[in-house]
Amino acid sequence: MLESMRGEARVLAGGQSLVPMLNLRLAVPAVVVDINWLHGLERLDCEESFISVGALVRQRRLERSAQARQCGALCDCLPLIGHVGTRNRGTVGGSLAHADPAGELGLVLVGVGGEVLACDARGERRTIDSGSFFEGFLSSALGPAEVLTEARFHRDGPGRASAFIEAAPRHGDFASASVCACVELDSSGATSSIRLALGAVTDRPFLAGLPDDALAGWRGDKESADELASLVASSIEPLGTLHAPPQYQRHLIGVLGAQALLKAFQRAKQSLGNGDHGEEAHP
Ligand SMILES: Cc1cc2nc3c(=O)[nH]c(=O)nc-3n(C[C@H](O)[C@H](O)[C@H](O)COP(=O)(O)OP(=O)(O)OC[C@H]3O[C@@H](n4cnc5c(N)ncnc54)[C@H](O)[C@@H]3O)c2cc1C
Repeated sequence: MLESMRGEARVLAGGQSLVPMLNLRLAVPAVVVDINWLHGLERLDCEESFISVGALVRQRRLERSAQARQCGALCDCLPLIGHVGTRNRGTVGGSLAHADPAGELGLVLVGVGGEVLACDARGERRTIDSGSFFEGFLSSALGPAEVLTEARFHRDGPGRASAFIEAAPRHGDFASASVCACVELDSSGATSSIRLALGAVTDRPFLAGLPDDALAGWRGDKESADELASLVASSIEPLGTLHAPPQYQRHLIGVLGAQALLKAFQRAKQSLGNGDHGEEAHP
């Protein structure tokens, strides 16, 4: 149906974004294809490096799962997606396919690294890297006849940890700005990699470009986290939202970015067993 309707058909998963869009006539597909009865898209599993989440896994199920606890940023973000009622119906695949630039799950996928599996009408499968999945506002690399079947989020592990923080006008609202940090330490405890992804400030979630000497200047303390995050904040061109003008979004990225970097760093240290095991850096 998806193939024969040539872009005039839309998949229905949890309906938490599609149905409001239908109500408002922002989407007027000729046909709605309900995939809820499809078996095999509800798998939730931990593999060596990834948490594999079937497209129809409900956001609330993932939030309450042991698998989500393998990724700090996933745990942080899931309670912030809408409300319990929307998370009971809303799926992980639907959230990613919807490609809202303020969507929490898309930002975590980009921030921790991962991939999306897609399948077309002929059963051809392909893997799309998180870095090339989001193509613009509500736009992804999925073709009109492709179904997202699975998302694979990189796990945290010894020496590797992630954190997610957002600012929204009220709990459950879409974020005015959001950040996902991922820090890796080598066995001596020295930082070997830093990733900082940003959401809600442009037309898609994206990985911020860090200066070449970012690691050299990084000491894992508040001062270097502030320095790095304000460098990132000054390098972006936020688009602004109804509630957050561009200058405020830039400010938020500086503040939240530093908090997320510190939180991820502390978690990474603790995962190696040489952290101070004290309070986490809270927003
Ligand atoms: C009150 C409210 C508050 C919300 N707040 C937030 C929030 O803070 N953060 C946030 O991220 N989201 C929020 N949402 C959206 C919610 O998370 C949705 O669940 C999610 O965006 C879409 O998932 P869904 O399963 O409901 O998909 P649907 O609404 O069924 O589909 C959404 C889109 O994705 C396509 N699609 C769905 N599944 C697939 C698939 N497997 N393959 C290909 N295409 C597919 C559909 O065709 C459609 O275009 C909110 C929604 C509501 C109603």
